[in-house]
Amino acid sequence: MESIRSSLERFMKNKDWRHRYDKLKQEVLSYPRIKEFFEEHPEWTQKELEPYLMKLFEYKRERQNCDVCPGLTECPNMMQGYQPDLKTEKGQPLVTYHPCRLKRQADERRRQQALIRSMYIPKEILEATFDDIEQDHASRLSASNQCLKFALQAQPGEDANGLYLYGKFGVGKTYMMGAIANELAERDIQTMMVYVPDFFREMKQALSDGSVQEKIDNVKNVSVLILDDIGAETTSAWVRDDVLGVILQYRLMEKLPTLYTSNYDYEELETHLSYSQKGGIEQLKAKRIMERIKHLTIPVFIDGKNRREM
Ligand code: ADP
Ligand code: MG
Repeated sequence: MESIRSSLERFMKNKDWRHRYDKLKQEVLSYPRIKEFFEEHPEWTQKELEPYLMKLFEYKRERQNCDVCPGLTECPNMMQGYQPDLKTEKGQPLVTYHPCRLKRQADERRRQQALIRSMYIPKEILEATFDDIEQDHASRLSASNQCLKFALQAQPGEDANGLYLYGKFGVGKTYMMGAIANELAERDIQTMMVYVPDFFREMKQALSDGSVQEKIDNVKNVSVLILDDIGAETTSAWVRDDVLGVILQYRLMEKLPTLYTSNYDYEELETHLSYSQKGGIEQLKAKRIMERIKHLTIPVFIDGKNRREM
């Protein structure tokens, strides 16, 4: 893009520059926003405008781009997303820049997105919002109301109560959690969404490189933790007691809410957790974990069509 200075210089070199100069001046002064500025500052109409013409020209060119805004990514202004203002300071016109509405919105969105951390969760889920949730089934309506209520009222650090979303594969449980995470981000509350089967697999691998503690710490401290698809993993007694158990114990003490999605209801999950890979049945330990989950969540059932087949 040609700089304002060079275009003005090129213009001044021209032999009939006086004529062109007057034309430019006329153009600048007839730009409605500049006209308005002069109407608000009648003292300016008396002054010699030559020294300020370049500034006014810059203002006009940049502000005109905003008048026909093509969107932030296509913004042709010198500084993308910045809109000029025309002011007067110490008796001189001054052009300053402020981030435009679209830039402010994009910055805010980026800041909020940074509040949502995730492990192995698809991008479309991380962008879900309550506005996108179709209320095509009575249980989905009541579930989304409960989820929205949680997102609007959660007080991490003061109240550890969360939700336990369960129902068949594909009814939109994980999607609903994505909407919660985004709503929480609007309240500046940090969430972490973890796909449990992959997380537990990673923890088992962490045993060999000594990073177990660090990985647990990463997850246990987050304001709102979403454990997605609990029950779909192959459990081992170690993961159940020394990973899940430790995380939940910490969060209980710190009053940090945990949310779950599962294809299982409470009872089925307890059964699942009581079988370990080694073939032993450890009902007591499974019961202990389940008591903790039940005590700190409201069960929310979602029914409906399998959306993955739509
Ligand atoms: P679940 O976790 O219950 O197995 P998902 O949340 O993964 O189901 O949803 C299955 C699919 O349907 C995903 O591709 C998801 O993006 C989509 N989906 C779920 N709920 C909605 C919704 N309310 N509106 C639009 N798409 C949805
Ligand atoms: Mg899911």
